[in-house]
Amino acid sequence: MIIHIPHSSTKIPDYEDKMKESEITKKMIEKYTDFNTSDLFFYEGADIIEYPYSRVFCDVEKLEENEPQEKYGLGILYKNVEHLRKFPQKALETYKEHHKKLLASASMQTAYFDKVIIIDAHSFSEEQAKEQGFINVPDICIGTDDIYTPKDIIELVKNHFESNGYSVGINTPYSGTIVPLELYGHKDIISIMIELNKKTYMSSEEDYIKLKNIIYNLLKELIEKE
Ligand SMILES: [Zn+2]
Repeated sequence: MIIHIPHSSTKIPDYEDKMKESEITKKMIEKYTDFNTSDLFFYEGADIIEYPYSRVFCDVEKLEENEPQEKYGLGILYKNVEHLRKFPQKALETYKEHHKKLLASASMQTAYFDKVIIIDAHSFSEEQAKEQGFINVPDICIGTDDIYTPKDIIELVKNHFESNGYSVGINTPYSGTIVPLELYGHKDIISIMIELNKKTYMSSEEDYIKLKNIIYNLLKELIEKE
């Protein structure tokens, strides 16, 4: 199992001092960070691939070509902060490095296991989803891929959250899940995105611990199935 955590960090590297100190950056970090996902998604024995910097510095979940969010200024490098950046090349190097790590981990695991499951771990804000026009925003959003997300895995994840009292949306408000491009066509790769509505864990400590346990049990179930 691989747990992919692209958006949990709030860090901007020191060499981007102007970007780091800017109020624009701070506001964007506040708005866009998937807070605590690196803590909420944990399972010993899983390989955790976490991007060490903020998505405001570089968004490793965006595509190099034909990125649909590019038109909103949210490509690999967000437009709003570009005027503050000194070394765009360095950011792009961290992007490449991250994907190399993910690919290396997935390739290695395919050699050892029959199936390799990638959990693409995120969270989202209900307000932002509503701003984008979604009305019934679920507690948990599952993102799937037509080829790499088997129906039984979708059902398992959906039932797991629903039986614990959470509402679940499939590919709504957000869709898709990460698969390393180089492994396209590999039949042993499974990938599923799990996005947590921030209200399910950011309002109280009880909620947080409850959800963390539920995720842990889910990952355990999935790894045993693998
Ligand atoms: Zn995210």
